[in-house]
Amino acid sequence: MPIFEYQCVHCGHITSFLEKAGSQEIHVCAKCNSKDTKKIFSTFSVEGGASSSGDGFSCPTGTCSFSG
Ligand SMILES: [Zn+2]
Repeated sequence: MPIFEYQCVHCGHITSFLEKAGSQEIHVCAKCNSKDTKKIFSTFSVEGGASSSGDGFSCPTGTCSFSG
């Protein structure tokens, strides 16, 4: 079961919940019991990062022997 983090829009407290897929549970802040929580998408994946040797050998100049 994936763990999702919800941040209380009231006090800003972040509570982690185990959530079943497709569940529509109401998550209550553990600190102030507010139901106004929003899901936090923790996406730490680096997009377009510095990949030294990528999968596709596409030479920017076209003079590389690996290109083509
Ligand atoms: Zn709260």
